Amino acid sequence: MSTWPTPFRPRIPARWSYRLHAVLATNRAYRWLAARLERSPRAYRVFTATERVSKEKLFGCRMCGQCALPTTGYACPMTCPKQLRNGPCGGVSPEGRCEVHPAVRCVWVLAHDRAVAAGHGTDLDLLQRPVDHREQGRSSWVNYWQGRDDTMVIEVRP
Ligand code: SF4
Repeated sequence: MSTWPTPFRPRIPARWSYRLHAVLATNRAYRWLAARLERSPRAYRVFTATERVSKEKLFGCRMCGQCALPTTGYACPMTCPKQLRNGPCGGVSPEGRCEVHPAVRCVWVLAHDRAVAAGHGTDLDLLQRPVDHREQGRSSWVNYWQGRDDTMVIEVRP
């Protein structure tokens, strides 16, 4: 994706997304699948293209390869024009509008509202590590199933 990031309002409710994530949670079968995909460049390309199309339509995904959706109310932080991973910048308006694209709501305001409405507001207390741009374009599902996301967030709750 080459266009400049614009806050994207997810097309499915957060509650459905949390349920879907439960179905995709890491288990032995998914770990096996991820390992198989990584051994077959062609299968990996097809799988990654499917992930790209589905998540782009639903969440505005930009294929960072290290998916933060489960901790952000399923609002993609990479659609923030500044690609901030830990909350909004100081430019968000009092009405919750993006500083760069004032016609749309800040994606972090969306994340807050969606997470709180689904009973996951405390997820926003988690501190996200910086994005590793070497993972850009790779499958975040495969990375997740392979356990590469395990240290992506840091607990900072008191
Ligand atoms: S993989 Fe990255 S860019 Fe895609 S939805 Fe998740 S956080 Fe956003």
